[in-house]
Amino acid sequence: MRNLISNEFQDTPQDQQDFLEENKGLLCELDNTWGEAVKGDWNAHTISRMQYLLHQLINTSNVMGYTKTEMAARDLKETLEETSIFQQAQAQVQELETEFEMLWQVIRTEKPISDAPDNTEQDNGSSVENGQRSHQLIYIAEDESNKAEKLADQISYFGYQVKTFTDLQTLKKTVAENEPKTILLDIAFPDHPTAGLETAKEILNTHPQIPVIFLSTESKIETRLQAVKAGGIAYFTKPVDIGTVIDTLDQNTGGKNNSSPYRVLLIEDSRFQATFYARKLQYAGMQTRILTNPMQIIETLEDFNPDLILLDMYMPVASGMELAKVIRQVETYLSIPIVFLSAETDKTKQLEAMKLGGDDFLDKSIKPEHLITAITSRASRYRELRSMMMRDSLTDLLNHTTIKERLEREMLRANRNDLEMTYAMIDIDHFKQVNDTYGHAAGDRVLKSLSRLLTQRLRRTDIIGRYGGEEFAIILPGTSINNALKVMEELREGFANLRHQAEDEEFSVTWSCGIASYAGFPTPGQISEAADTALYMAKREGRNQTICADFIQP
Ligand code: GH3
Ligand code: MG
Ligand code: MG
Ligand code: MG
Repeated sequence: MRNLISNEFQDTPQDQQDFLEENKGLLCELDNTWGEAVKGDWNAHTISRMQYLLHQLINTSNVMGYTKTEMAARDLKETLEETSIFQQAQAQVQELETEFEMLWQVIRTEKPISDAPDNTEQDNGSSVENGQRSHQLIYIAEDESNKAEKLADQISYFGYQVKTFTDLQTLKKTVAENEPKTILLDIAFPDHPTAGLETAKEILNTHPQIPVIFLSTESKIETRLQAVKAGGIAYFTKPVDIGTVIDTLDQNTGGKNNSSPYRVLLIEDSRFQATFYARKLQYAGMQTRILTNPMQIIETLEDFNPDLILLDMYMPVASGMELAKVIRQVETYLSIPIVFLSAETDKTKQLEAMKLGGDDFLDKSIKPEHLITAITSRASRYRELRSMMMRDSLTDLLNHTTIKERLEREMLRANRNDLEMTYAMIDIDHFKQVNDTYGHAAGDRVLKSLSRLLTQRLRRTDIIGRYGGEEFAIILPGTSINNALKVMEELREGFANLRHQAEDEEFSVTWSCGIASYAGFPTPGQISEAADTALYMAKREGRNQTICADFIQP
């Protein structure tokens, strides 16, 4: 057995260990089966067993956000499918061996895209993960320690790691030792009314790249100007609104990272050529999927959800033009960019292809950098367009229609791959009262901070939508009802602890939640109704709690 799961991995991050642990049996068996096969024991059984194991690996790595592992496993599975039992030419075995090696390498090194924390306590691997910000270190310097601690608490609910300082010497010393992503710096300190400004200048002298945000009790233009001169990127008057602080931190730390890599689907009958282009795109940071059999186009689109399709003009089963027509017939893909890639230099034929639904025509002799530019601009425009259609403008979460579509899709996937899945519905408690007491604008800020909290603390693979005014829906793929309950309860408590700001008043808000599992309610209609009923019960039983539909006695 490879030393994949041995002590070598004691130093690997916890999340990766979890991934290995989760797939331990599978990986061992895969390795053993491969070992038997290369020793000469090729038979239909070993091959189909390996395919099955790879299929499982593809699914778990997909759910857990291990994209590279997923891609490597997919490559290997496809090569395996093309390998005949009878002619195990040396070349084929070698290709398989290489792809196996690549798979192991990727498994050893890959961190999941959710970039899970290195400092969270782990239980069963399904608790709330501190999303993408966990490694983002923020320093707060403020002479009043209770204020500093309170602000630190609030910020840490959004997944940042926060350290507070009450004296500026310690701050300077610590910055030199361990550089933070951002510093929140009070201006007035007991020994000097603008000590914060002086310290900022000193720090920025040696660390010009650290964004400094000033906190102040006053709003005088003079002080603001001094703050700008001292190199501050923002100026907040106390008491600060947590939503605004998080927005600013996000902008300056890249904490809110929506830019997952562009997904490009390559449809090309020659795997060799496709791999060539795929590698180029991967080097540019894109995620690729190769489809050599055009007949699987619909399933592949659904499964991979590409931002752009790169389509070969001439393939044996269907021409690129015919395929483009088929893709355009599916409503969901009406506007997906399709770029033809072909050796075709005949302009008339190129034009014809464009008429049939292609967006662009690239010559196969195109330089890789041009290919990448062409693809990037089209994919980004498409993403923007799609985001406008699919997202809610206040919170940037998926809108009602889209979250419902995603629920259907995830349920199909759970069914197909025999995976767990849980659905959660959240409704803010007495929200009308929040609006009535503190104003609609304060209400909007609460909605935004809730959506931020969900986005940052849930996994990348979880799907979050704004279901209605103050109602939110969350799909948790690969999560059992018990784990989902833990996650939602942790989030509920975190949210209830947030302090919101309105004029001169602080207030907190709670929510109620109903959850239901795919295992208990296997259709979209049933699961929605069950989660809704559980939510209604949570309201009736006193709000600020989560109820599982699966455990309700009939
Ligand atoms: P319950 O605990 O029973 O859910 O009480 P509730 O007050 O939250 O429920 P209700 O359905 O009576 O009121 C929902 C309120 O949410 C009414 C509406 O004004 C407010 N709301 C809906 N969408 C928005 C929005 O986009 N912004 C703001 N500020 N308020 C909104
Ligand atoms: Mg002060
Ligand atoms: Mg409501
Ligand atoms: Mg409500």
